[in-house]
Amino acid sequence: HAPVITLDGPGGVGKGTISTLLAEKLGWHFLDSGALYRLTALAASNHGISLKDEQAVALVAEHLDVQFANDASGSQIILENEKVTEAIRTEEVGTNASIVAAYSRVRDALLKRQRAFAVEPGLIADGRDMGTVVFTDAPLKIFMNASAEERATRRVRQLQEKGATADYDTVLADIVARDERDQNRATAPLKPADDAVLLDTTCLSIDEVMNAILDEAAS
Ligand code: C5P
Repeated sequence: HAPVITLDGPGGVGKGTISTLLAEKLGWHFLDSGALYRLTALAASNHGISLKDEQAVALVAEHLDVQFANDASGSQIILENEKVTEAIRTEEVGTNASIVAAYSRVRDALLKRQRAFAVEPGLIADGRDMGTVVFTDAPLKIFMNASAEERATRRVRQLQEKGATADYDTVLADIVARDERDQNRATAPLKPADDAVLLDTTCLSIDEVMNAILDEAAS
């Protein structure tokens, strides 16, 4: 099947930014796998389903009615005929996503949907387990990391740019809590694949990260 570059790492490390730029530069498709977990969490909440009810949440994931569409203002995410592009980006939905992401039946339900994105000419796959579970035979696997403090600083800046108010300590606490949940879950815990290239971006600019990955892709 089509070539895949996997980009895994913790929340707020800049995978989304880098994946989007890489996909543009190479003319490849882009899978934002975190969006699928966010959509599952949002759909469950919308239907009044408790996030503690693993079987009910798994049914939501198995029947997720979602479309990734393009309109004049860019790519849009449609959940059950409603535009949720922005609604899934809140910290609350992110936290809820990490709760439902710990359920193995939810992860299984989303597996096929993710693999279907690997079509020609190629795919940039952004997530937590792209290299360890979903695309194990990808020829290039990148694991991005950065200190929690640096990720919190970046997230606060991003929120402020959007005009939102952001409290650094709250953002940092959210990031640390989410890291812990992602790293310690029984199914597909967040960790680099054995054959992943490790990239610490704490002191790197976006350009430097892009160049490091493009160098790896060329070698
Ligand atoms: O990357 P993003 O913040 O959108 O992901 C939201 C949550 O979804 C993560 O904290 C993680 O728990 C979960 N996730 C996952 N596996 C992926 C992508 C996201 O478990 N491949």
